[in-house]
Amino acid sequence: MTATYDVVVIGGGIQGVGVAQAAAVRGYRTLLLERDTLAVGTSSRSSKLVHGGLRYLESGRIRLVRESLRERETLLRIAPGLVARKDFYIPIYASSRRTAGHVRAGLLLYRLLAGGPGGGFERVPARAWDSLDGLETRGLKAVFRYSDAQTDDVALTHAVARSAAEFGAEIRIGTCFVGAERAGAGYEVRYVREGAVASCETRVLVNAAGPWVAQTLSRVLPGPPRLPHDLVAGTHIISEGSLGEACYYVEAPSDHRGVFILPWRGRVLTGTTERLYTGDPGLVAPSAEEIAYLQEALAAYFPGLATAVAESFAGLRVLPKVGGDLNARSREVVLLADAPLPRLVSIFGGKLTAYRRTAEQVMERLGIALPERPARADTSRLMLPVG
Ligand SMILES: Cc1cc2nc3c(=O)[nH]c(=O)nc-3n(C[C@H](O)[C@H](O)[C@H](O)COP(=O)(O)OP(=O)(O)OC[C@H]3O[C@@H](n4cnc5c(N)ncnc54)[C@H](O)[C@@H]3O)c2cc1C
Repeated sequence: MTATYDVVVIGGGIQGVGVAQAAAVRGYRTLLLERDTLAVGTSSRSSKLVHGGLRYLESGRIRLVRESLRERETLLRIAPGLVARKDFYIPIYASSRRTAGHVRAGLLLYRLLAGGPGGGFERVPARAWDSLDGLETRGLKAVFRYSDAQTDDVALTHAVARSAAEFGAEIRIGTCFVGAERAGAGYEVRYVREGAVASCETRVLVNAAGPWVAQTLSRVLPGPPRLPHDLVAGTHIISEGSLGEACYYVEAPSDHRGVFILPWRGRVLTGTTERLYTGDPGLVAPSAEEIAYLQEALAAYFPGLATAVAESFAGLRVLPKVGGDLNARSREVVLLADAPLPRLVSIFGGKLTAYRRTAEQVMERLGIALPERPARADTSRLMLPVG
Protein backbone atom coordinates (compact mmCIF):
# COMPACT_ATOMS: atom_id res chain seq x y z
CA MET A 1 0.00 0.00 0.00
CA THR A 2 1.28 3.49 -0.86
CA ALA A 3 2.24 5.56 2.19
CA THR A 4 0.38 8.84 2.52
CA TYR A 5 1.79 12.00 4.07
CA ASP A 6 0.52 15.48 4.68
CA VAL A 7 3.88 17.09 3.93
CA VAL A 8 6.88 15.82 1.94
CA VAL A 9 10.03 17.94 2.13
CA ILE A 10 12.85 17.61 -0.42
CA GLY A 11 16.28 18.49 1.02
CA GLY A 12 17.93 17.97 4.38
CA GLY A 13 19.67 21.33 4.76
CA ILE A 14 18.68 23.79 7.45
CA GLN A 15 15.62 24.95 5.51
CA GLY A 16 14.34 21.42 4.88
CA VAL A 17 14.75 20.25 8.48
CA GLY A 18 13.20 23.54 9.66
CA VAL A 19 10.10 22.90 7.56
CA ALA A 20 9.96 19.25 8.69
CA GLN A 21 10.03 20.43 12.32
CA ALA A 22 7.39 23.13 11.72
CA ALA A 23 5.12 20.62 9.96
CA ALA A 24 5.57 17.89 12.57
CA VAL A 25 4.83 20.15 15.54
CA ARG A 26 1.63 21.21 13.76
CA GLY A 27 0.62 17.55 13.84
CA TYR A 28 1.19 16.78 10.16
CA ARG A 29 2.45 13.44 8.94
CA THR A 30 5.80 14.50 7.52
CA LEU A 31 8.50 12.88 5.38
CA LEU A 32 11.87 14.48 4.56
CA LEU A 33 13.95 13.15 1.67
CA GLU A 34 17.68 13.87 1.65
CA ARG A 35 19.74 12.48 -1.23
CA ASP A 36 23.02 12.34 0.65
CA THR A 37 23.32 13.22 4.31
CA LEU A 38 21.98 16.11 6.42
CA ALA A 39 23.69 19.50 5.90
CA VAL A 40 25.87 18.23 3.07
CA GLY A 41 25.08 21.29 0.91
CA THR A 42 25.18 25.00 1.74
CA SER A 43 24.23 24.30 5.35
CA SER A 44 27.76 23.08 6.13
CA ARG A 45 29.50 25.81 4.13
CA SER A 46 28.20 29.02 5.72
CA SER A 47 30.14 31.59 7.75
CA LYS A 48 28.46 29.97 10.80
CA LEU A 49 27.00 33.24 11.99
CA VAL A 50 23.61 33.76 13.56
CA HIS A 51 23.30 37.45 12.87
CA GLY A 52 21.19 40.28 11.57
CA GLY A 53 23.73 40.97 8.85
CA LEU A 54 25.19 44.39 9.54
CA ARG A 55 26.23 44.82 5.93
CA TYR A 56 22.66 44.42 4.67
CA LEU A 57 21.90 47.80 6.25
CA GLU A 58 24.09 49.35 3.55
CA SER A 59 21.64 48.08 0.93
CA GLY A 60 18.61 49.15 2.99
CA ARG A 61 17.37 45.65 3.94
CA ILE A 62 15.83 46.82 7.18
CA ARG A 63 13.11 44.16 7.35
CA LEU A 64 15.59 41.34 6.72
CA VAL A 65 17.95 42.63 9.40
CA ARG A 66 15.18 43.16 11.96
CA GLU A 67 13.73 39.70 11.39
CA SER A 68 17.16 38.04 11.52
CA LEU A 69 18.02 39.86 14.75
CA ARG A 70 14.79 38.61 16.28
CA GLU A 71 15.62 35.08 15.20
CA ARG A 72 19.15 35.49 16.61
CA GLU A 73 17.64 36.19 20.02
CA THR A 74 15.23 33.25 19.69
CA LEU A 75 18.05 30.86 18.78
CA LEU A 76 20.24 32.12 21.62
CA ARG A 77 17.34 31.26 23.94
CA ILE A 78 16.32 27.87 22.56
CA ALA A 79 19.74 26.56 21.50
CA PRO A 80 22.20 27.82 24.12
CA GLY A 81 24.55 24.88 23.52
CA LEU A 82 24.63 25.52 19.77
CA VAL A 83 24.45 29.29 19.35
CA ALA A 84 26.77 31.55 21.36
CA ARG A 85 26.91 35.30 21.66
CA LYS A 86 30.29 36.66 20.57
CA ASP A 87 32.12 39.97 20.55
CA PHE A 88 32.71 41.31 17.05
CA TYR A 89 35.32 44.00 16.32
CA ILE A 90 35.33 46.37 13.36
CA PRO A 91 38.68 48.12 12.88
CA ILE A 92 38.75 51.37 10.91
CA TYR A 93 42.02 52.36 9.21
CA ALA A 94 43.18 55.46 7.36
CA SER A 95 42.70 53.37 4.18
CA SER A 96 39.19 52.06 5.06
CA ARG A 97 36.30 53.04 2.82
CA ARG A 98 33.88 53.09 5.75
CA THR A 99 34.58 55.90 8.18
CA ALA A 100 34.13 55.69 11.94
CA GLY A 101 30.99 57.85 11.59
CA HIS A 102 29.56 55.51 8.97
CA VAL A 103 30.18 52.39 11.10
CA ARG A 104 28.84 54.09 14.23
CA ALA A 105 25.62 55.02 12.40
CA GLY A 106 25.25 51.43 11.19
CA LEU A 107 25.76 50.04 14.69
CA LEU A 108 23.25 52.49 16.13
CA LEU A 109 20.64 51.31 13.65
CA TYR A 110 21.60 47.67 14.32
CA ARG A 111 21.06 48.26 18.03
CA LEU A 112 17.74 49.94 17.38
CA LEU A 113 16.55 47.05 15.19
CA ALA A 114 17.71 44.45 17.71
CA GLY A 115 15.81 46.12 20.55
CA GLY A 116 16.27 44.51 23.96
CA PRO A 117 19.61 43.19 25.21
CA GLY A 118 22.54 42.18 23.03
CA GLY A 119 22.45 45.19 20.75
CA GLY A 120 25.01 47.30 22.53
CA PHE A 121 28.25 48.52 20.99
CA GLU A 122 31.21 50.63 22.05
CA ARG A 123 34.29 52.31 20.70
CA VAL A 124 37.33 50.40 21.97
CA PRO A 125 39.89 52.79 23.52
CA ALA A 126 43.28 52.93 21.80
CA ARG A 127 45.01 51.66 24.95
CA ALA A 128 43.16 48.33 24.55
CA TRP A 129 44.08 47.78 20.87
CA ASP A 130 47.14 45.73 21.78
CA SER A 131 44.90 43.12 23.39
CA LEU A 132 43.08 42.42 20.10
CA ASP A 133 44.77 39.16 19.04
CA GLY A 134 47.61 40.85 17.15
CA LEU A 135 45.35 43.05 15.02
CA GLU A 136 47.42 45.38 12.80
CA THR A 137 47.60 48.75 14.55
CA ARG A 138 49.50 50.71 11.88
CA GLY A 139 47.09 53.24 10.37
CA LEU A 140 44.38 52.17 12.82
CA LYS A 141 41.98 55.04 13.56
CA ALA A 142 39.18 53.41 15.55
CA VAL A 143 37.82 50.04 16.64
CA PHE A 144 34.18 49.27 17.40
CA ARG A 145 32.94 46.32 19.41
CA TYR A 146 29.42 44.97 18.97
CA SER A 147 27.77 41.66 19.60
CA ASP A 148 26.37 38.94 17.33
CA ALA A 149 26.33 35.14 17.49
CA GLN A 150 28.16 32.13 16.10
CA THR A 151 26.95 28.57 15.62
CA ASP A 152 27.94 25.21 14.20
CA ASP A 153 25.75 25.05 11.11
CA VAL A 154 25.95 21.25 10.79
CA ALA A 155 25.18 20.65 14.48
CA LEU A 156 22.27 23.10 14.31
CA THR A 157 20.83 21.30 11.28
CA HIS A 158 21.11 17.95 13.08
CA ALA A 159 19.49 19.37 16.22
CA VAL A 160 16.49 20.68 14.27
CA ALA A 161 16.20 17.33 12.45
CA ARG A 162 16.20 15.47 15.79
CA SER A 163 13.48 17.77 17.07
CA ALA A 164 11.42 17.13 13.92
CA ALA A 165 11.87 13.37 14.38
CA GLU A 166 10.78 13.61 18.03
CA PHE A 167 7.48 15.00 16.77
CA GLY A 168 7.12 12.11 14.35
CA ALA A 169 8.74 13.39 11.14
CA GLU A 170 10.42 10.63 9.12
CA ILE A 171 13.89 11.79 8.09
CA ARG A 172 15.25 9.62 5.27
CA ILE A 173 18.84 10.24 4.27
CA GLY A 174 20.39 8.56 1.22
CA THR A 175 17.03 9.01 -0.51
CA CYS A 176 16.87 10.94 -3.76
CA PHE A 177 13.73 12.66 -4.96
CA VAL A 178 13.30 11.83 -8.66
CA GLY A 179 9.87 13.18 -9.56
CA ALA A 180 6.37 14.23 -8.55
CA GLU A 181 3.08 14.45 -10.39
CA ARG A 182 -0.19 16.06 -9.40
CA ALA A 183 -2.57 13.32 -8.30
CA GLY A 184 -5.98 13.91 -6.75
CA ALA A 185 -5.71 16.63 -4.13
CA GLY A 186 -1.92 16.39 -3.85
CA TYR A 187 1.16 14.87 -5.42
CA GLU A 188 2.48 11.40 -6.07
CA VAL A 189 6.17 11.50 -5.20
CA ARG A 190 8.87 9.15 -6.49
CA TYR A 191 12.24 8.64 -4.86
CA VAL A 192 15.18 6.28 -5.08
CA ARG A 193 16.68 4.58 -2.06
CA GLU A 194 19.43 1.95 -2.29
CA GLY A 195 18.84 1.68 -6.03
CA ALA A 196 15.12 0.96 -5.73
CA VAL A 197 12.37 3.35 -6.81
CA ALA A 198 9.57 3.87 -4.30
CA SER A 199 6.64 6.24 -4.16
CA CYS A 200 4.30 7.92 -1.72
CA GLU A 201 1.41 10.34 -1.77
CA THR A 202 1.32 13.72 -0.13
CA ARG A 203 -1.08 16.60 0.23
CA VAL A 204 1.71 19.17 -0.15
CA LEU A 205 5.31 19.24 -1.31
CA VAL A 206 8.11 21.54 -0.15
CA ASN A 207 11.15 22.04 -2.36
CA ALA A 208 13.99 22.85 0.03
CA ALA A 209 16.75 21.63 -2.28
CA GLY A 210 18.90 24.76 -1.91
CA PRO A 211 21.15 25.21 -4.96
CA TRP A 212 19.28 22.31 -6.60
CA VAL A 213 15.94 24.12 -6.31
CA ALA A 214 15.55 24.57 -10.09
CA GLN A 215 16.62 21.02 -10.87
CA THR A 216 14.02 19.79 -8.38
CA LEU A 217 11.28 21.98 -9.91
CA SER A 218 12.07 20.54 -13.34
CA ARG A 219 11.10 17.11 -11.98
CA VAL A 220 7.58 18.18 -11.01
CA LEU A 221 4.57 17.77 -13.31
CA PRO A 222 2.70 19.73 -14.46
CA GLY A 223 5.61 22.20 -14.72
CA PRO A 224 5.24 24.73 -11.88
CA PRO A 225 6.28 28.39 -12.27
CA ARG A 226 10.01 29.18 -12.26
CA LEU A 227 11.91 32.02 -10.66
CA PRO A 228 14.96 33.48 -12.41
CA HIS A 229 17.85 33.32 -9.99
CA ASP A 230 21.62 33.12 -9.79
CA LEU A 231 23.86 30.77 -7.89
CA VAL A 232 26.59 32.72 -6.13
CA ALA A 233 29.62 30.87 -4.81
CA GLY A 234 31.25 31.88 -1.54
CA THR A 235 34.55 30.47 -0.27
CA HIS A 236 36.07 30.23 3.21
CA ILE A 237 39.57 29.24 4.26
CA ILE A 238 40.62 27.72 7.57
CA SER A 239 44.17 28.40 8.78
CA GLU A 240 46.20 27.46 11.84
CA GLY A 241 46.40 29.95 14.71
CA SER A 242 44.13 31.31 17.35
CA LEU A 243 41.97 34.38 17.77
CA GLY A 244 40.74 33.57 21.26
CA GLU A 245 37.01 34.20 21.33
CA ALA A 246 36.85 37.43 19.31
CA CYS A 247 35.40 37.81 15.82
CA TYR A 248 36.61 40.46 13.37
CA TYR A 249 34.80 42.14 10.53
CA VAL A 250 37.25 43.79 8.15
CA GLU A 251 37.40 45.33 4.68
CA ALA A 252 39.16 43.21 2.07
CA PRO A 253 42.22 45.24 1.00
CA SER A 254 41.60 44.87 -2.75
CA ASP A 255 37.91 45.83 -3.05
CA HIS A 256 36.74 46.91 0.45
CA ARG A 257 34.10 44.14 0.69
CA GLY A 258 33.29 43.06 4.23
CA VAL A 259 35.12 39.85 5.23
CA PHE A 260 34.90 37.97 8.52
CA ILE A 261 37.93 36.62 10.36
CA LEU A 262 36.58 34.26 13.00
CA PRO A 263 37.70 31.75 15.61
CA TRP A 264 36.62 28.28 14.57
CA ARG A 265 37.41 25.13 16.53
CA GLY A 266 40.79 26.44 17.70
CA ARG A 267 41.71 27.72 14.24
CA VAL A 268 40.88 30.73 12.10
CA LEU A 269 38.04 30.91 9.57
CA THR A 270 38.21 33.67 6.95
CA GLY A 271 35.41 34.37 4.49
CA THR A 272 33.66 34.93 2.32
CA THR A 273 33.89 35.72 -1.39
CA GLU A 274 31.19 36.16 -3.98
CA ARG A 275 31.24 35.04 -7.60
CA LEU A 276 28.60 34.01 -10.06
CA TYR A 277 28.48 30.24 -10.52
CA THR A 278 26.94 28.46 -13.48
CA GLY A 279 28.23 24.90 -13.11
CA ASP A 280 26.89 21.78 -11.41
CA PRO A 281 26.03 22.76 -7.80
CA GLY A 282 27.57 19.52 -6.59
CA LEU A 283 30.98 20.49 -7.98
CA VAL A 284 31.43 23.96 -6.51
CA ALA A 285 34.94 24.40 -5.07
CA PRO A 286 37.19 27.26 -3.91
CA SER A 287 39.16 28.89 -6.74
CA ALA A 288 42.83 29.89 -6.46
CA GLU A 289 41.84 33.58 -6.80
CA GLU A 290 39.34 33.34 -3.94
CA ILE A 291 41.89 31.68 -1.68
CA ALA A 292 44.51 34.35 -2.50
CA TYR A 293 41.95 37.13 -1.85
CA LEU A 294 41.13 35.74 1.60
CA GLN A 295 44.78 35.11 2.47
CA GLU A 296 45.53 38.72 1.53
CA ALA A 297 42.83 39.95 3.94
CA LEU A 298 44.07 37.72 6.76
CA ALA A 299 47.70 38.80 6.28
CA ALA A 300 46.77 42.49 6.12
CA TYR A 301 44.90 42.50 9.44
CA PHE A 302 46.72 39.78 11.37
CA PRO A 303 50.33 39.86 10.14
CA GLY A 304 51.36 37.49 12.93
CA LEU A 305 49.00 34.71 11.86
CA ALA A 306 49.87 31.95 9.41
CA THR A 307 48.02 32.22 6.10
CA ALA A 308 48.72 28.69 4.85
CA VAL A 309 45.39 27.03 4.11
CA ALA A 310 44.64 23.99 6.26
CA GLU A 311 41.15 23.58 4.77
CA SER A 312 38.86 25.46 2.42
CA PHE A 313 35.28 25.07 1.32
CA ALA A 314 32.78 26.74 -0.99
CA GLY A 315 29.02 27.01 -0.81
CA LEU A 316 26.29 28.39 -3.04
CA ARG A 317 23.74 31.07 -2.29
CA VAL A 318 20.53 31.14 -4.29
CA LEU A 319 19.89 34.78 -5.17
CA PRO A 320 16.68 35.71 -6.97
CA LYS A 321 17.54 37.88 -10.00
CA VAL A 322 16.53 41.37 -9.07
CA GLY A 323 19.00 44.10 -10.11
CA GLY A 324 22.06 45.31 -8.21
CA ASP A 325 25.52 43.78 -7.98
CA LEU A 326 25.84 40.45 -6.21
CA ASN A 327 27.04 42.02 -2.99
CA ALA A 328 24.04 44.36 -2.81
CA ARG A 329 21.36 41.87 -3.84
CA SER A 330 18.72 40.96 -1.27
CA ARG A 331 19.26 37.88 0.90
CA GLU A 332 15.56 37.79 1.66
CA VAL A 333 13.99 34.42 1.10
CA VAL A 334 11.52 34.09 -1.77
CA LEU A 335 8.80 31.44 -1.53
CA LEU A 336 7.45 30.37 -4.90
CA ALA A 337 4.07 28.60 -4.86
CA ASP A 338 2.44 26.65 -7.68
CA ALA A 339 -1.00 28.28 -7.54
CA PRO A 340 -3.21 30.62 -5.51
CA LEU A 341 -4.09 27.53 -3.43
CA PRO A 342 -0.58 26.18 -3.20
CA ARG A 343 0.35 22.53 -2.87
CA LEU A 344 3.98 23.04 -3.78
CA VAL A 345 6.24 25.70 -2.27
CA SER A 346 9.86 26.18 -3.35
CA ILE A 347 12.33 27.99 -1.10
CA PHE A 348 14.75 30.30 -2.94
CA GLY A 349 17.61 31.63 -0.85
CA GLY A 350 17.25 32.75 2.74
CA LYS A 351 19.54 32.60 5.73
CA LEU A 352 20.63 29.98 8.19
CA THR A 353 19.71 32.48 10.93
CA ALA A 354 16.11 32.82 9.75
CA TYR A 355 15.38 29.13 9.05
CA ARG A 356 12.72 28.90 11.77
CA ARG A 357 10.80 31.95 10.52
CA THR A 358 11.10 30.73 6.92
CA ALA A 359 9.63 27.38 7.94
CA GLU A 360 6.70 29.16 9.60
CA GLN A 361 6.10 31.17 6.43
CA VAL A 362 6.14 28.00 4.33
CA MET A 363 3.55 26.38 6.60
CA GLU A 364 1.39 29.52 6.53
CA ARG A 365 1.41 29.41 2.71
CA LEU A 366 0.47 25.72 2.67
CA GLY A 367 -2.01 25.86 5.56
CA ILE A 368 -4.96 26.29 3.25
CA ALA A 369 -4.26 22.91 1.59
CA LEU A 370 -3.90 21.07 4.88
CA PRO A 371 -6.50 19.92 7.41
CA GLU A 372 -6.71 21.75 10.75
CA ARG A 373 -4.70 19.94 13.43
CA PRO A 374 -4.02 21.07 16.98
CA ALA A 375 -0.44 22.36 17.24
CA ARG A 376 1.64 20.35 19.69
CA ALA A 377 4.42 22.88 20.24
CA ASP A 378 5.74 26.27 19.29
CA THR A 379 9.17 26.12 17.63
CA SER A 380 10.13 29.49 19.14
CA ARG A 381 10.01 27.82 22.56
CA LEU A 382 11.12 24.30 21.74
CA MET A 383 14.62 23.74 23.12
CA LEU A 384 17.27 22.38 20.74
CA PRO A 385 19.74 20.32 22.78
CA VAL A 386 23.25 19.48 21.58
CA GLY A 387 23.33 15.93 20.17
C1 LIG B 1 29.29 31.25 1.60
C2 LIG B 1 28.01 31.35 2.38
C3 LIG B 1 28.02 31.86 3.68
C4 LIG B 1 26.85 31.96 4.40
N1 LIG B 1 26.90 32.38 5.69
C5 LIG B 1 25.77 32.50 6.41
C6 LIG B 1 25.82 32.91 7.77
O1 LIG B 1 26.90 33.10 8.33
N2 LIG B 1 24.66 33.04 8.44
C7 LIG B 1 23.45 32.82 7.85
O2 LIG B 1 22.43 33.01 8.50
N3 LIG B 1 23.36 32.36 6.57
C8 LIG B 1 24.49 32.19 5.85
N4 LIG B 1 24.45 31.72 4.57
C9 LIG B 1 23.16 31.27 4.02
C10 LIG B 1 22.84 29.85 4.52
O3 LIG B 1 23.99 29.08 4.62
C11 LIG B 1 21.86 29.20 3.56
O4 LIG B 1 20.74 30.02 3.42
C12 LIG B 1 21.37 27.83 4.03
O5 LIG B 1 22.40 27.02 4.47
C13 LIG B 1 20.62 27.19 2.89
O6 LIG B 1 20.08 25.98 3.35
P1 LIG B 1 19.17 25.08 2.41
O7 LIG B 1 18.57 24.07 3.27
O8 LIG B 1 18.28 25.96 1.60
O9 LIG B 1 20.18 24.45 1.34
P2 LIG B 1 21.22 23.27 1.49
O10 LIG B 1 21.89 23.28 2.79
O11 LIG B 1 22.10 23.31 0.29
O12 LIG B 1 20.32 21.96 1.46
C14 LIG B 1 19.73 21.45 0.28
C15 LIG B 1 19.73 19.95 0.41
O13 LIG B 1 18.92 19.38 -0.63
C16 LIG B 1 19.46 18.13 -0.95
N5 LIG B 1 18.94 17.72 -2.25
C17 LIG B 1 19.14 18.33 -3.43
N6 LIG B 1 18.50 17.65 -4.41
C18 LIG B 1 17.88 16.59 -3.82
C19 LIG B 1 17.06 15.53 -4.30
N7 LIG B 1 16.78 15.38 -5.60
N8 LIG B 1 16.59 14.62 -3.41
C20 LIG B 1 16.88 14.74 -2.08
N9 LIG B 1 17.66 15.73 -1.58
C21 LIG B 1 18.15 16.64 -2.44
C22 LIG B 1 20.96 18.38 -0.94
O14 LIG B 1 21.71 17.18 -0.80
C23 LIG B 1 21.11 19.33 0.26
O15 LIG B 1 21.43 18.63 1.46
C24 LIG B 1 25.62 31.57 3.81
C25 LIG B 1 25.60 31.06 2.51
C26 LIG B 1 26.78 30.94 1.81
C27 LIG B 1 26.76 30.36 0.43
